[in-house]
Formats: sequence, structure tokens, C-alpha cells
Amino acid sequence: MTKLLVITENRDGELRNVSFEAVAAAKKMNEAAEVVGVVLGSGNLEKLGNEIIRFGADRAITVSHEKLEDYTSEGYGQAVLAVIEDESPDGIVMGHTSIGKDLTPKLAAKLDSGLISDVVDISDEDGQPAFTRPIYSGKAFEKKVIAEGSTLVTIRPNNIKPLEEDESRNGEVISKDVDIADARTIIKDVIRKASEGVDLSEANVVIAGGRGVKSEEGFRPLYELAEVLGAAVGASRGACDAEYCDYALQIGQTGKVVTPDLYIAVGISGAIQHLAGMSNSKVIVAINKDPEANIFNVADYGIVGDLFEVVPKLTEELRQL
Ligand code: FAD
Repeated sequence: MTKLLVITENRDGELRNVSFEAVAAAKKMNEAAEVVGVVLGSGNLEKLGNEIIRFGADRAITVSHEKLEDYTSEGYGQAVLAVIEDESPDGIVMGHTSIGKDLTPKLAAKLDSGLISDVVDISDEDGQPAFTRPIYSGKAFEKKVIAEGSTLVTIRPNNIKPLEEDESRNGEVISKDVDIADARTIIKDVIRKASEGVDLSEANVVIAGGRGVKSEEGFRPLYELAEVLGAAVGASRGACDAEYCDYALQIGQTGKVVTPDLYIAVGISGAIQHLAGMSNSKVIVAINKDPEANIFNVADYGIVGDLFEVVPKLTEELRQL
């Protein structure tokens, strides 16, 4: 029987949504496969093991170690490789997150396998899974199949729908002990700069500000709108470079990739490098005073106007609903 490992991610004692999406992706790759959720961290991880099973994994393996409290590629790498050695999976699926982007190339090198990254869809090609991924900064899509060897895949968050949680699903949660050698890097402190509100990479609604917001204070109306919509706030690199906000908010080719249901671009021109991070959003709304701005070419709805008038009005109207 085909066996697929899903490397889950957790934060503050909760599994991240992309972990459930990765389970659904594994099932899409092969409905008959045994899907094994791998939970890494410190403390008791049984609850998370059971949760990944409720979202579709057939069983779960937890590896708890004080050196896995925070992500390091050396620590996680050792733990995952130990699980791989035990399980000999036919494939591995993980989120295309900052952790997934760091860990999977190392796994591919160690396992001498290929890697298909940033997958947005999985279809069936003559009985084989075919992986769709964006190329040329999202201008085109390619479809790849694996010719030989094991499958290592990262999936872009918010693209593959998780399975419904089902309390009646059950499976074994096995706790595995792994010796983790001292890493050359040690996390001494984690400083969360962009922890205000909703997590940007998993948000259903994103409001992003560009250089057009003109100052740090100019972001205030965007935060007010975000509060009404339960949205996360993001930014263009233009806004980050101008020090209106932290780089943790940057969306684009060299920033985060987001695929929310609704993306509101405020005072953003729509440079190709910005589009690379958001053009797959389901509905795009652009607010810009320049009717020729490139962002209108990808927008489903456009408002030509001064953002300092439009955004507060929008917030006021939405508050009435
Ligand atoms: P601008 O291009 O200056 O646009 C500001 C917009 O605001 C204009 O369209 C203007 O009409 C509008 N505006 C001004 N005032 C108002 C107002 N009062 N009301 C309404 N609208 C108003 N960029 C990214 O975003 N993400 C990336 O990851 C990224 N990576 C890059 C990587 C490389 C290698 C390079 C070379 C560039 C990268 N860039 C990236 C930068 C990118 O090329 C653009 O410079 C940047 O996206 C521009 O940001 P912006 O749209 O906020 O600013």
C-alpha cells in the first residue's frame, strides 16, 4: 500500500491550517494511500496527533523533544529523517510555508529525491498524480508528474481544501523517541513583529497597503477596515522599503505568498513582483487614484479614488452591516 507522510506544523499549541490542507493533498494524490501525520514539537503532542486524524490522516506519529520547541532545520531535519527511516514512505507532503521552504530542499538532498514546490492543485493524469504550480512569478502554470523515485511536495496554503473534521475518524497516535544532537543554531528568543491580528499567510481576507498610504500612520485606516472584516494586513515592498510597516508584512516574489478569498490592494501600483505574491487570490479589489495603475489589470473590482477617502467610507459602510 502506498504510504504518504504529512509533516504538520503547529504554533502556540495549535495545528496550522496548512497541515489539514496537506492531508487533503495527500488524499488527492492517492485516495487509497495510507496517510501518516507527523507532529513535531515539545511537551505532550497527543492532542495534535488525534486532531490530524480527525482531519483525515490514518494515523499519527508524534516526536516530542525540548530541542523541537522552536523550528530549526537541523532539529526538525533529524526528527523527520528518523521518522522517514522507520516508515519508508512513498511520498512526503508539507506546506509551502517558511518552514516547508527551508526543510524540504534539505530532505530532498538527503533522500536524493526530486521536489515539487508551491503546488496549487493536484489532478489525475493517467492514474498518476499531476501537480500544478505557478511559474514566471505567477504568469503561467506548469503541470508536473514524477517520473521516478519518491514524491516530495510542498503545497501553497489556502489552495487545497481541507477535509471536513470528522470526530468518528480514529487511528493510532504513536509517540516516537528521537535522539537529537546539539544543533549549531539555537533559538534564544522569538520576537513576533506581525502577530497583531490574523496570520497573513492563512488569512481569508487580506488588506494590503502600498507606498500610496504615505506613512506608518497611513496604515491606520487599513487596520480599522481589517478589524471589521476579520482580515490580516499586508503590504507591498514599496511600503516596507519606505518603513511604513515591518517587512514581515511584505507580499510578493520576495515576501509572503497569499491566496485569500478576498485581497484588497490599497495604494499599490501592481508591479509584477507584487503580483507574484497575490494574483491567485480568489477576488481582488484595487483602490488606487491612478486609473492606469497595473493593479487594475488583475483586479475583479476597481475603485479609482483617494484611499484616504475610500477606505474610511468602506469601513463605515461595512460596520453598518
Ligand atoms: P508604487 O509603485 O510607488 O505605487 C504606489 C501606488 O499608490 C501608485 O499606483 C499610486 O497611484 C497609488 N497612490 C498614491 N497615492 C494614493 C492615494 N492617495 N490614493 C490611492 N492611491 C494612491 N514588491 C512587492 O510588493 N513585493 C515583493 O516581494 C517584491 N519583490 C521584489 C524583488 C525584486 C528582485 C525587485 C527588483 C523588486 C521587488 N519588488 C517587490 C518591488 C516592486 O518592483 C515595486 O517597486 C513595488 O511593489 C512597488 O510598491 P507599491 O506598489 O507600493 O509602490
